[in-house]
Amino acid sequence: MNTEPDRYAVIGNPIAHSRSPEIHQLFADQTGECIRYEKILAEPGGFEAAVRQFFDAGGRGLNVTLPFKGEAFEFAAKCTDLAVHAGAVNTLIAQDDGSCLGANTDGIGLLRDLKKTLRLSIQNKRLLILGAGGATRGILEPLLQEKPLALVIANRTPERGAALVEHFRALGPMQSCALDAIPDGPYDLIVHATSAALQDQELGLPDTLAGPGTCCYDLIYSDTPTPFMRWAKDQRVLQVTDGFGMLLEQAAESFYLWRGKRPDTAMACNYLRPP
Ligand code: NAP
Repeated sequence: MNTEPDRYAVIGNPIAHSRSPEIHQLFADQTGECIRYEKILAEPGGFEAAVRQFFDAGGRGLNVTLPFKGEAFEFAAKCTDLAVHAGAVNTLIAQDDGSCLGANTDGIGLLRDLKKTLRLSIQNKRLLILGAGGATRGILEPLLQEKPLALVIANRTPERGAALVEHFRALGPMQSCALDAIPDGPYDLIVHATSAALQDQELGLPDTLAGPGTCCYDLIYSDTPTPFMRWAKDQRVLQVTDGFGMLLEQAAESFYLWRGKRPDTAMACNYLRPP
């Protein structure tokens, strides 16, 4: 009988900050699964080789984080519908024939946490998303399925936001703009999905976006308030949260795809981030 744990990992750049190994190990303990979960740092241009090496050595599944979600989509032999529409993959699952299935659990993770943590319904709400990278690609379809009144994508490179609007136009009312030309709010929900803070850069957001009823959600997770969370608090918005809940929920969905078992995310949250 094989008693070696099945191997999983998260791959990205940077990767040192990732909490995915402790989360998945906790999920494994909760569900009685025998896994080993590591971090893999891939250099630019080195993603495919690193992924091949991992799966050739018997790896069963990968989480993929920035900036490789587009490359993971290209790598996967087959993808789930959500991942195909997003053109971005955050979960790779080894198949029996040696190929990989690609999935995207980011949007499911965000929606579950919005409902649990902020108790927020998206229907008929005005949404602003800051950023148009792999994470935004993953969350757009699940957000649009909830029928918001309007959704604005603001991005440093406006062409990337415009391309996303073009791509998802059939799913709901959307527009895009540059970060310095965002239509005035107040928005009901502002989602921060840029990696500016990883380079210690601020977005320089205006005071015209938020009001007392606005909820702000930073996809980045941090034990101390992020620059976006500090901006949101200065705007005296209704609620501000970081992306730790989303991290847990998207991880739980990946775990389910790999192991067929659903971990208890509320218990995991209490354990990993005690109140
Ligand atoms: P990505 O594909 O590399 O995209 C990065 C985005 O950030 C792009 O829109 C980029 O704009 C923008 N950006 C980068 N530097 C900027 C700067 N200095 N000023 C303004 N905009 C800047 O990354 P991603 O995969 O979308 O991830 C985005 C963030 O979400 C990351 O911090 C990631 O950790 C977080 N995330 C969290 C979760 C979770 O579970 N909590 C899940 C997914 C992602 P350009 O198009 O102009 O380059």
